[in-house]
Amino acid sequence: MKLNNGLLALEEDYVFSEVSRRVRRFASQNPDARLISLGIGDVRGPICPAVTRAMRQAVADQARQRTFHGYGPEQGYQFLRQAVAAALTQRGAPVPPRDIFISDGAKTDLGGIFDLFAPGGAVLLCDPTYPAVRDDCRMRGMRPVSLPGTEANGFLPLPPAGDGEVDAVYLCSPANPTGAVYDRDQLAAWVEYARSREALLIFDSAYESFITDPKLPRSIYEIPGAKNCAVEIGSFSKVAGFTGTRCGYTVFPTELQVRGVSLQGLWRRRLASRSNGVAYVVQRGAAAVYSPAGRQQTARALAVYRENSRRLAAALTAAGLPHWGGQHSPYLWLKCPRGLSSWGFFDFLLQYGNLVGTPGIGFGPMGEGYFRLSAFGDPASVEQACDRLPRTLEFLR
Ligand SMILES: *Cc1c(COP(=O)(O)O)cnc(C)c1O
Repeated sequence: MKLNNGLLALEEDYVFSEVSRRVRRFASQNPDARLISLGIGDVRGPICPAVTRAMRQAVADQARQRTFHGYGPEQGYQFLRQAVAAALTQRGAPVPPRDIFISDGAKTDLGGIFDLFAPGGAVLLCDPTYPAVRDDCRMRGMRPVSLPGTEANGFLPLPPAGDGEVDAVYLCSPANPTGAVYDRDQLAAWVEYARSREALLIFDSAYESFITDPKLPRSIYEIPGAKNCAVEIGSFSKVAGFTGTRCGYTVFPTELQVRGVSLQGLWRRRLASRSNGVAYVVQRGAAAVYSPAGRQQTARALAVYRENSRRLAAALTAAGLPHWGGQHSPYLWLKCPRGLSSWGFFDFLLQYGNLVGTPGIGFGPMGEGYFRLSAFGDPASVEQACDRLPRTLEFLR
């Protein structure tokens, strides 16, 4: 039996499990410490009433012969594809329902997308990045090529010069972990690059709902020409608390063709073999996110995260720590003080502040010396953390 070398080569210790290990050890040695986690990439919940009502109704549908749903369409129910298409169209990215593919979350398609390519192809991605994509690409025998995200480029790398072969580019905006957001001109440069190279632009819009500035693009299809080169992978996880309920979507524009082959057709064919669709109850819940009540209620939860971000940013500024992101994102990215390494600062914050964050190195080698804080906490804990931060940093002086 020959095993998958790409899978075998993945680093043994995923940073997040090491974080849990260190936190457990500290908690067992310091049972009285009141730890506050600013490390999580998970929402606080709960799911809003408009959505849970729709899901309860859908459960009731399943209990009656007349309204029972068996296998649904692999691509997703028309009612949800229409709702997603209408929302994208409303925000200036006109997409028809036939181009929408419902998924059980963005992560599934962020990995599955590499099924489209011949093994060995090059995939450009930012370093630091959402680690799952780099892993997925290795598991499929693709070659991840890092684009350094630095303070100098605002953690938003632009297309590289030179003419090495490129099969795909993965962009996440607003980005995890840095919270950086591409503007229109920068995305236009990427669209132009992908088109000139016949490369696929994979646009991860998981955090689009955090964007408040109408000048910043929330969808790649706000950029002219994007339909010829880009797929967009969206999620209900962060906007509506679906991290445990699982639903997302991927947009394959009809216009997306590679040497006469429709990628939408190819994806539909792949899906027919790979999936029997997403739960009817979950799709009903996701559709309710777009109802007037759903929009209002999810906006309220987002406002809480925004206020948390604002407070954390103010505390970091007060403590004199350089930081980025947080404005259109639930994540703040900061430079570790005194030249500390990511893990050094992690241990310091844990020990002296009883605060838990995420070491930047977990998102790639360029994340060394940086640190991510998440605003997905409850406001009282975040406020306490903001109180502790400056006092904790005093220990470094
Ligand atoms: C949270 C997150 C997602 C969403 O993943 P789901 O599978 O939909 O929960 C996608 N991309 C990034 C970068 C994320 O941080």
